[in-house]
Parts: sequence; structure tokens; C-alpha cells
Amino acid sequence: MTQQVSLQNALIDWFLKNQRDLPWRRSYTPYQVWISEVMLQQTQMERVVLYFNRWMDLFPNIHALARAPEDQVLKCWEGLGYYSRARNIMKCARILLEKHGAEIPSTRKELLQLPGIGPYTAGAIASIGYNRDVAVVDANVMRIFARIFNIDLIPDSPEAKSLHWEKAEQLLPKGQAREFNQGLMELGALVCRPRNPYCSFCPLVPYCLALKYDLTLERPVPKKRTKIIPIEMATGVLIHNGKLFIQQRLADDIWGSL
Ligand code: SF4
Repeated sequence: MTQQVSLQNALIDWFLKNQRDLPWRRSYTPYQVWISEVMLQQTQMERVVLYFNRWMDLFPNIHALARAPEDQVLKCWEGLGYYSRARNIMKCARILLEKHGAEIPSTRKELLQLPGIGPYTAGAIASIGYNRDVAVVDANVMRIFARIFNIDLIPDSPEAKSLHWEKAEQLLPKGQAREFNQGLMELGALVCRPRNPYCSFCPLVPYCLALKYDLTLERPVPKKRTKIIPIEMATGVLIHNGKLFIQQRLADDIWGSL
């Protein structure tokens, strides 16, 4: 068995034994995978589970979502932040209903044509929803690769991004993308964590160069701090005859249309 095959098997075995019980993992419908993946961008898993269950009660399929009023969808999203994600989901649902017979495409190329679906989400829907041989790279995957391959590049650099995608495609075992990709993401979330990786519980110890060279905390290479932009705002509260005035924000402003 090659080193690559034994790494793949170690990760898949670990995932099958240690995966968290999550609602979208019960049936793996592409619709549920899509919504969960968009919710998981920028939001913690525990919160997403609550929102996901409520979302599926209200909008159980693409038909229901495409026909729902925008206010209802935004209300259901309230608290998750980054509302452009919810607006793109709505646009996408209408396109899927009008042009794809309410089905989510299964190829990366077609998925990338849809609003709000970038390379990561397209890879996740194709591999997790359809078990197609399509790679995924997110922050968890990049962290694991930076450690096991000892990649000495700033994670956001174009060089690092293309190298991580290349590695993800090379490592993907044919016919097992669903388990393998989720295994990477789950390992990144539970074991190969940013600050204190639990190396003693990791199935990838024999393959990890950063561990071998005692560099786990230097991989990925730390990023420079993001510049904070101060915003000045004036706020007025209008109350009249027991009523509170609430105005919807302009669509192209910060927190647009909320
Ligand atoms: S051995 Fe440690 S650093 Fe390496 S992949 Fe596993 S948890 Fe991450």
C-alpha cells in the first residue's frame, strides 16, 4: 500500500468512527448540503444546527424556498450575519427553479455559475451531496495540508491557494470523496485545531511533517493582522404614541436592506 493510500484510509476510518451526528449527514441531499455549507461559512457549528433545523421546517425544498418572500427568508437568517449569503441563496433558488427544474447541478462547472457558489461550496455540494470526485479546500483543509506537508507559504497567497488545491486533487481517493473531504474538514474542526492541535488523537501522525519537525504552531504561516476601518454613525430613536419607527436600510449600504 502506498503512503497516499494509507493516509486516505486512516482519515476515512477516523471519520467514520468519529464524525459528529449532524442533521444534513442523515440523508446527504444536495439541497441540505448546500444550505448547511453556506450557513457554516463564518458561523459556528452549534449555532448552524439550530438555524438549519428551523430553515428546513420553513423551506424544506427548492420550491418552497424560491417562492418564499424575501422578508421571511431574511428573518430566518437573522443572527447568522453576512446577509448577502441569504440573498444569494434566494437568487440561486429562483434560478434553480426556473432553469434547472428545481434540481441542484452536480458538476463543479455548473455549480460555479450560480450566485454565491464559489470553488469551496461547489466542491462541497458535488462531493458531499453527490459523492463526485471533486476536491474541497477551506481553512481547515489548508491548515491540515500546511502541517502534514510542512508548507511554508502565507495561506492567502495565490501560490499557497493553488498548491493546496493541487494537493487536495492529488490526495482525493476515487469514489470516496464524500467521506474523505468531510474527514479533512472534521479533523480540522476537532483535532488539527488552529492553536492547540490534539496530535495524540490524530490519525495522520505518521504523515505529518510539521509534527516531525516541531513546527505545528508555525504552520500555517501566521497571517498579518487585518486593518480595522473605523466607521462613524449617528443613530436616532423615534418613539411616538407607543410606536417605534424602524426604517429598512438602503440595499447598497452596510447591512443592506435590513
Ligand atoms: S499530527 Fe497534529 S499537526 Fe499533524 S495533522 Fe495531526 S493534529 Fe494536525
